[in-house]
Amino acid sequence: MVDIITIPAFETNYLWLGINRENNTAFVVDPGDAKPVLVYLQAHGLQLTTILLTHKHADHIGGVRYLKSIYPEVRIYGHPIEAVTDVTDLVHDDQQIRLDDFNLSFRVIHVPGHTLGHVAYYSAPMLFCGDTLFGAGCGRLFEGTAEQMLHSLSALAALPDETLVYCAHEYTLSNLEFAAHVESSNMQVQQRIAHTEQLKAQDIPSVPSTIALEKATNPFLRCDQPEIVRQVEGRVQKPCGSTVEVFRQLRLWKNNF
Ligand SMILES: [Zn+2]
Repeated sequence: MVDIITIPAFETNYLWLGINRENNTAFVVDPGDAKPVLVYLQAHGLQLTTILLTHKHADHIGGVRYLKSIYPEVRIYGHPIEAVTDVTDLVHDDQQIRLDDFNLSFRVIHVPGHTLGHVAYYSAPMLFCGDTLFGAGCGRLFEGTAEQMLHSLSALAALPDETLVYCAHEYTLSNLEFAAHVESSNMQVQQRIAHTEQLKAQDIPSVPSTIALEKATNPFLRCDQPEIVRQVEGRVQKPCGSTVEVFRQLRLWKNNF
């Protein structure tokens, strides 16, 4: 059984640490900063054996080289398109990666959009999805097309409802403000805002959420909903004609919200 620990970093990042307390080994997802990871590992007598990288941005890989200097045997997983120099194990879509230290297998899901080689790692019920799916939001389209990102988000939304969404940033509350703006009749969005505000007041992370909650409240997974289509078409003053176009316009709108 693996415990998942949240390590906050920078302004809004979460680095996720998985721990097997039977053999005192750990894996980390997207260590943008080595220091808080090392502090935790050393305070708890843990050996880092595995790094999972979702994509190449500095706030996700910035701590990799230093961690590797401390743990030279560490295995580092990432997609070849991201071309992160320290990766030891290249991954591809639908690959199963076996982590014996944790008695876990992860399925790699290639989710282009935010970057072209972005991947998510899924081992029921856990999903580590980097900057693709956020609480009530999604990542910006830095490299991919709207069509690619919508396809990627749909692949994540197709996972079981109870899947725990471990995303890489605490953006939930500001994303929910946008969700409420584009779908004001959605009562579950209102409930989620109230709940997320309570968590924030207690300094508790709003993630992981679940796929069920995202499907109910995340506008980027709801581009086929009549109210959202109407809102987007009202803003751009023309019919969208396809769900991809609704998604593309919704993402542009959010960039400037
Ligand atoms: Zn990123």
